[in-house]
Amino acid sequence: MNSSRRDFIRSVALGSTAALLGLSNHAYASGKRVVVIGGGSGGATAARYLRLFDPTLQVTLIEPQKRYRSSLMSGEVLIGTREASTLLFDYLKLSQLGIKLVTDRVISIDSEQSTIKTQQGDEFSYDRCIISPGIDFQWSAIDGYNQEITQQFPHAWRGGEQLITLKKQLTSMHDGGNIIISIPKPPYRCPSAPYERASLMAYYLQQHKPKSKVIILDANSTFDNQRGFKKVWRKYPIERISAEEVTAFDASNKRVTTHSGQQIKADIINIIPPQKAGKIAATAGLVDESGWCPVNLITFESHLKNNIHVIGDAAAIGEMSKLASSANAQGKVCAAAVVALLNGESLNPVPLIETSYAIIGPTAAISRGAVFKPTKGGETLTLIADSLKAKKTKRYPLREFYNAHSWYNNITRDIFG
Ligand SMILES: Cc1cc2nc3c(=O)[nH]c(=O)nc-3n(C[C@H](O)[C@H](O)[C@H](O)COP(=O)(O)OP(=O)(O)OC[C@H]3O[C@@H](n4cnc5c(N)ncnc54)[C@H](O)[C@@H]3O)c2cc1C
Repeated sequence: MNSSRRDFIRSVALGSTAALLGLSNHAYASGKRVVVIGGGSGGATAARYLRLFDPTLQVTLIEPQKRYRSSLMSGEVLIGTREASTLLFDYLKLSQLGIKLVTDRVISIDSEQSTIKTQQGDEFSYDRCIISPGIDFQWSAIDGYNQEITQQFPHAWRGGEQLITLKKQLTSMHDGGNIIISIPKPPYRCPSAPYERASLMAYYLQQHKPKSKVIILDANSTFDNQRGFKKVWRKYPIERISAEEVTAFDASNKRVTTHSGQQIKADIINIIPPQKAGKIAATAGLVDESGWCPVNLITFESHLKNNIHVIGDAAAIGEMSKLASSANAQGKVCAAAVVALLNGESLNPVPLIETSYAIIGPTAAISRGAVFKPTKGGETLTLIADSLKAKKTKRYPLREFYNAHSWYNNITRDIFG
């Protein structure tokens, strides 16, 4: 296809995306400044779509890492069916789109002055700011568990080095050793991911260490898509103890204690800690007593600070799951809202779609798709469609396995270009 035809198709597609997101035949905001904090699933999407919707905007993306380390598909890396390098994404395409990239960490946001300060001492002014800093952990929730100890007992909930450490622990564990995975109460990042991790680790044990098993200590009594998971667990060395929250951790004896007083030892202890919004959101005064950032669910503007929008895991989004697909959807809606607001336009509520895939075996996956509609004033989200209710055919796990891989390729392209 020649480039003018490609450009034409792209501009038609972009025009319909803009229209779907409620943007009129949008006027351009003539050089207004938008600073995006965090170049992950939400932030990179927002930065990219801001420039696509309005090429006159000055968009700056501040992110401390040169390359983003995805957690999507990280389960496959854990069991050795995917290369870790396929989880890395750089920001080249975003910079080619005219986005100014700053490799630095934001340390403060002054919402009165509309300025941002970074660790290296630079200051940035904005007309609107979008922040998508992801998650932080509630370090005081489990007695004896802290940030330092995660070098040795990785949660691996933000990808990167910890994922590789956990993988090494799995491959080097003796046959007959046990693994504990502890799951916190919601909300936490990617509700199905702990169960996906348990499934894949159990599958790996079945293949390589048949005397070993995975023990799930789950603070929850039920979980999303549990019928799908439980079906496959019948074949795996896996035991789930439900409604049993880990309250204490003894690193030297490799032992956890639960709230009912059970003490369980294991060779690998993978505690997924209770979570809250990324630290900079709290420092900037964007977080309420829930630990997350209350926002208007049409514009994603903070209820606590004017002209700052919060998207992704850090935002309080009711029943919508904390997922890359949610962050991606919010990034586009928020970019459209920012362009509209900078032009003095109003916006109608736009439905938000989440999609999540859980790989549960070498060629099997299960999925969930849900659609949420914001109320007229953007106060709450209402679930209007849920794929969990749809009937599943025999071929469903294999089909979803292939869908999961093509979804991963598509969504990462949509986020990073
Ligand atoms: C094991 C696992 C599997 C998962 N699988 C899926 C899946 O299959 N499908 C799915 O949709 N989701 C999945 N997720 C969830 C998904 O990874 C997150 O929901 C998503 O990445 C959230 O996007 P975000 O933008 O909020 O945060 P992130 O993607 O984490 O991005 C936050 C960014 O902000 C940056 N940052 C933080 N603080 C600052 C600061 N002070 N200054 C500047 N930058 C800062 C960070 O460096 C980071 O790059 C999974 C998660 C896990 C843990």
